Amino acid sequence: MSTLKEADQQLIRLLADGQFRSGSQLGELLGISRAAVWKRAQRLSDFGLALESVKGKGYRLAQPVELLDPEFLQHYLSRTVCPVDLHYSLITDSTNADALAVGGLAARPAVFLAECQMAGRGRRGRQWQSPFAANHYLSIRYPIQGGFAALGGLSLAVGVAVADALTALCPELAVGLKWPNDLLVNGAKLGGVLIELAGEMEGRVDVVVGVGLNGRMTAAQAQGIDQRWTDLASEIGDLPARTEVVAKVLEHLLVMLADFSSQGFAPLVSRYERYDQVAGKTVKVQSADQVLEGVALGVSPDGALQLETADGMKALYGGEVSLRIQ
Ligand code: ATP
Repeated sequence: MSTLKEADQQLIRLLADGQFRSGSQLGELLGISRAAVWKRAQRLSDFGLALESVKGKGYRLAQPVELLDPEFLQHYLSRTVCPVDLHYSLITDSTNADALAVGGLAARPAVFLAECQMAGRGRRGRQWQSPFAANHYLSIRYPIQGGFAALGGLSLAVGVAVADALTALCPELAVGLKWPNDLLVNGAKLGGVLIELAGEMEGRVDVVVGVGLNGRMTAAQAQGIDQRWTDLASEIGDLPARTEVVAKVLEHLLVMLADFSSQGFAPLVSRYERYDQVAGKTVKVQSADQVLEGVALGVSPDGALQLETADGMKALYGGEVSLRIQ
């Protein structure tokens, strides 16, 4: 686990606004020597934060960062949806991993947020690029009745909830969904969904719903992404505050999860269709043991992609498959 000492975290908070602070001022505020400030300042580059140091002026971040406001989020969610346990870190390996690491079954929803993921993950061991305070990284651990069998379509339901949240925030954003787990704008990837299972007991399963959503990412920070990507800053004129984006997304997700645990995906099919970027298109779907080509004809109430192939209709389930629009 990539950890940050409390003084490192305070240093980031003190420098977040991009203003110069002298070494002695920082040392006083942090209760450490100027030499220790220098040492800690050097470490920030490990987390992708570029620091400038100018003689006579002190230190500042090359780019100011807008940190999330976890206290606001905690109050906002308990006011609008339900009380949650909220865990916030500046830096973590993966918010999904944090959510999975909680022992036992959760008594109530738990939310995990981070400004940066050192080992953000996609499906099949792929990496999710998660530069510091550039994007939004969140996971919810949520208890669902009905066990594993009740989870069909969850990834699509999550996509609908995030797309609804973004549409509510930025009506001009033409957000779409690519089965089974991508958020797209004009064919470029804006975000992704990763569902993992934490454990099943007595007909109840704890799911971990992870969402990565790009906010404002530079080309340098996006190095390693091997497909077309985009971020909110490129797509909308008036970018909402990061905390506002996370608040809306969490609100929609928690409302959706409460409905999903009693009714499943079926009531969301028509809303999914509004965002479906795949329906009517020729696609290639690759799973561990086969590649299928055909025309996508929408999704069924249990979240399966309906594919018309040369050998007839097939119902495909998400999980470990990869879909490309031809
Ligand atoms: P497929 O399209 O094959 O089904 P996927 O794109 O859904 O796979 P995921 O595992 O969901 O794959 O996401 C990981 C992939 O997403 C990475 O391999 C990379 O191409 C891309 N990626 C990683 N980070 C980001 C990001 N911040 N924004 C957009 N795309 C990213």
